[in-house]
Amino acid sequence: MKLTLHLQYEPDWLNEFVDRCQGKLRTIKGVNCFPNIGGVWTIGRVHVQDELSNALVSQGAAGVDGWLALCEDEYRKAAHVYAWQGPNEFILDTYKKTAWFNEFHIAYISRMSAMGLRTMCGNINVGWPRLRKFNDEPPYPPAIRSTIEALVQHDGILSLHEYGPGDMRTGQGAHCLRYRNTVAEWQAAGVLVPRIFMGEIGIDVPDESFPLDHHHRGWREWVKDENGQPYPAGYLEQLKWYAGELEKDDYIIGASIFTVCNWDWVTFSVDRELAMGIADIVAWEPEVIPPVVPPIVDHNIIDLVDQLKVRTPTKAVIHHSGGRQRPVNVLRHIQAIARYHVRHNHWNVIGYFAIIDADGNIYRVNLPQTASYHSGNWATNLESYGICLLGDFRTYDPTPEQIASCRWLVNQLDVVQVVPHKSVVQTVCPGRWARWGAQITGV
Ligand SMILES: [Zn+2]
Repeated sequence: MKLTLHLQYEPDWLNEFVDRCQGKLRTIKGVNCFPNIGGVWTIGRVHVQDELSNALVSQGAAGVDGWLALCEDEYRKAAHVYAWQGPNEFILDTYKKTAWFNEFHIAYISRMSAMGLRTMCGNINVGWPRLRKFNDEPPYPPAIRSTIEALVQHDGILSLHEYGPGDMRTGQGAHCLRYRNTVAEWQAAGVLVPRIFMGEIGIDVPDESFPLDHHHRGWREWVKDENGQPYPAGYLEQLKWYAGELEKDDYIIGASIFTVCNWDWVTFSVDRELAMGIADIVAWEPEVIPPVVPPIVDHNIIDLVDQLKVRTPTKAVIHHSGGRQRPVNVLRHIQAIARYHVRHNHWNVIGYFAIIDADGNIYRVNLPQTASYHSGNWATNLESYGICLLGDFRTYDPTPEQIASCRWLVNQLDVVQVVPHKSVVQTVCPGRWARWGAQITGV
């Protein structure tokens, strides 16, 4: 599974965590600490204070010099890092700020690439822009198209943050899994979806009464046992649900749970105990149930139904096809009618019982006991055969051969009533019946 830790220091139980993941750990994210674990992609973030970070992004491309002056030494020292995170949670609530964001990141991504370094950019809350504070028309996700294109071009990663309010599963993805809405907006706008790392996930609710947690309340304030104590097993259940959902989206490469920290973010704390439970989720593999082939009993029920002849129609309803009387290839023409009835009308079979071509040939296209749509009235469908003469008899009449064959057929079927389609429902079908119908009914 794709879960991992969000480290703000390197805890002494990190190796134990890695071992417990049984080789399944794919990524690890570190802020100012960059563990080097074999076979694991390290995502590194050099922490730059929010105000300074925002000021640099607000300079557009010109801000990249200032950013690299702060971070480049660290980048050089930790050569094993797979991708370096850019500025964190720049708020994209206006088009002006979005333009700065794009200019900064396009320059940052290409400068880093020239130095042989991969970037992880964005690091924005998926709630953006719907949870914005302003009433202006907001920049929607496609507004960062140029940043995404630069990432795709340089094999970079996009990072998104999302938290559930009190429970990750609240709203069935209205909060966590919101990234899918954002991705759908990109796809609708024709933006190529990059690899995505969920850089911060978990539970979070803003509350002024928690100054130690930057006015936020994490999982330890929301997931509690009956004694009111933080309940790791309950949180792990939510994380496992989330991990299962991430598996469905190939573009997601990982998700780091905020946070392993020993100086702040008390109510968000991922300690050794919780981390071992997370490792068990990482190592967990869904049980693959082999497909069961149910036994098929060979029987003659289908033949029996045939013999029972569950309906005995007493009527024939005469139709015209409304198309050509002498198609080049009659069988292909009939197949086209069948295709239209099944694919376009969603009927289970072609509507008619028989079709008669201009030379008087009769094509039986259904079994007599098959009730099919053709008359526009289901009671009539049940008690009638639909017989269709090829042609459009609004402007000309059936051939003598068609009329003779049709008359022969209704006699064979032993029906008591032969009616034109237009006598069942309002329709022009089968054309000028009054001119030739009596030749079939014999009246
Ligand atoms: Zn008809």
